[in-house]
Amino acid sequence: MKDSDKFKIVNELAKRRGFFWPSFEIYGGVSGFVTYGSLGTMLKRRIEDKFREFYIRPLGILEIESSVILPAKVFEASGHVEHFKEPMVECGKCKHKFRADHLLQEFAGMSDTKTEKLSPQQLIDQIRKHEIKCLECGGEFGEVKQFMTMFSTTIGPYSDAVGYGRPEAAQSIFVEFKRLYENARERLPLGIVQIGHALRNEISPRQGVIRLREFTIADIEFFFDPEEPQCPLLQNVENEKLRLLLTEAKLKGKKEPVEITVKQALGKGFIKTEWQGFFMAQAKRFLMELGVPEDKQRFIEKLDWERAHYSKQGFDQEIYIERWGWVEVSGHNYRTDYDLNQHMKFSGVDMRVFKEGRRFIPHVVEPSFGLDRLVYVAVEYALKTIKKRKVLSFPRDIAPVQVGVYPLVGKNGLPEKAKRVHQFLVKEGFLAEYDESGSIGRRYARADEAGTPLGVTIDYQTLEDDTVTMRDRDTWKQVRNKVERLPELLHAYFRYKLNFEDLGELVKG
Ligand SMILES: [Zn+2]
Repeated sequence: MKDSDKFKIVNELAKRRGFFWPSFEIYGGVSGFVTYGSLGTMLKRRIEDKFREFYIRPLGILEIESSVILPAKVFEASGHVEHFKEPMVECGKCKHKFRADHLLQEFAGMSDTKTEKLSPQQLIDQIRKHEIKCLECGGEFGEVKQFMTMFSTTIGPYSDAVGYGRPEAAQSIFVEFKRLYENARERLPLGIVQIGHALRNEISPRQGVIRLREFTIADIEFFFDPEEPQCPLLQNVENEKLRLLLTEAKLKGKKEPVEITVKQALGKGFIKTEWQGFFMAQAKRFLMELGVPEDKQRFIEKLDWERAHYSKQGFDQEIYIERWGWVEVSGHNYRTDYDLNQHMKFSGVDMRVFKEGRRFIPHVVEPSFGLDRLVYVAVEYALKTIKKRKVLSFPRDIAPVQVGVYPLVGKNGLPEKAKRVHQFLVKEGFLAEYDESGSIGRRYARADEAGTPLGVTIDYQTLEDDTVTMRDRDTWKQVRNKVERLPELLHAYFRYKLNFEDLGELVKG
């Protein structure tokens, strides 16, 4: 398949099989919104659960859930009202509006490092110099204006009670920090996570599920004592190699990252805090478990003028995808005491903690993941062509359906038996799906496209000895074993404790 087509192939497959598609199709669609169908919803949920299992629970990080609309005061304090803006140009003829920096990246080959540094005047000068015209009608662009990309609303019937849709999930954690810290028996370090919807009123999103106006974010705010910045878990990751593109190299125009262990990166001061190094290594491993190999991952250090206003040091974890190149899937920012300090100033409430005779504001490192991009990346990296057939080769622990259950034919008691096996597996906690429609070959093909790792088929022999065949999605090999042994075997298989060949006796043929 051609590289440039992969985005298209993924999106077509995603739409056809009900993973995800652009919303409001019957009204012509509005870009930047996505609907997840049944397979996509389950895939996303399983990635979220894996994130909890892999990233959150081992560290005792606490999860919270708060509102999507927050009063303006919160974002005045956090600096978003002042800083959360993007440069926009308007076509003089048809009045369509575009992101000025994205036009230069797409049509003048400029890096974001370069465009981030340009003033509004410089942006429009460059747009004119490169003769970039309106994508809708070919008209000339007017001046560049700054557009605030938070959605605003009013809270209740009072026009002066301005509220904003949160553009990230972090601020509620900072606002509620005092109570959360007390709930956690005043321990540091303390991690708090929020996974939920966030809103950004993007100017002209044109990248499908990669750039959404409403999306799911997972923000971990990890608070620690700045005088005790050591990470006791560092030894678990210190030899993990990271591909880093550092600011110094970027300024020299280098594009290739250096490969360096976490320990070395901390030793040389490339990464400024141990916890940040730890979380970056974990982020790399997490993406590997979602199916992305090491050489398709890198971490880009943000330059002064590229970093968010709250960040002292920031890295973006980027994944290579075929249409759009390197795309950010997580950000790792050292937010220091910035946010708690700001909320202390604006609210007048003391946010300091008291520990061993000292009063201080904890520092924060923040790993922040875009869940929708993780879903997209998981699908693109799972996509394989096996014997001319499209197969989504998901890792076993995120596949939206684990087991398909099929009667070989739709008669002679086989469907009844297959339905009983299906119910048996559902009650054992498996994500099992029953399918009797069409030939067995067609059903296998559908399951391969849905990324279902195992197929259990009920045939005439099942009625005699209560054995079934199990089919492997990736090799199409089959093994045979007793129905009663399935729960034990499959639980081990989905936990990666058994290989497919261990599930039974190989069926020749
Ligand atoms: Zn136009």
